[in-house]
Amino acid sequence: MIAGIGNAYSDEILHAARISPFATAKSLDRGTVQVLYDAIHSVLGTALAGAEGKPPSELKDVKRSHLRVHARTGEACPVCGDTVREVSFADTSLQYCPTCQTKGKILADRRTSKFLK
Ligand SMILES: [Zn+2]
Repeated sequence: MIAGIGNAYSDEILHAARISPFATAKSLDRGTVQVLYDAIHSVLGTALAGAEGKPPSELKDVKRSHLRVHARTGEACPVCGDTVREVSFADTSLQYCPTCQTKGKILADRRTSKFLK
């Protein structure tokens, strides 16, 4: 049972599922929902397995070692080699890989773009 999914793992789960961070729940077809569900299990399962038995002082490094896009803006995506990007949304920022998640599209910052319309 999980209480919720925070910023880091939501970035990681969406990357694993190859879903845009701006995709809305109602836009997902059944097949994509299943892919997302499976990604939640695999990403959180890997994180839990990696943390098991580790002292609290090592947990942050263990967590970071598993992150593929979160907090890795400007680094190479470990799956495809594209540059991990960051985009602002509401009061937070998201990291994603354009090639893996948005068909190469660079997402517009949702904080500023509403003022540009
Ligand atoms: Zn990628």
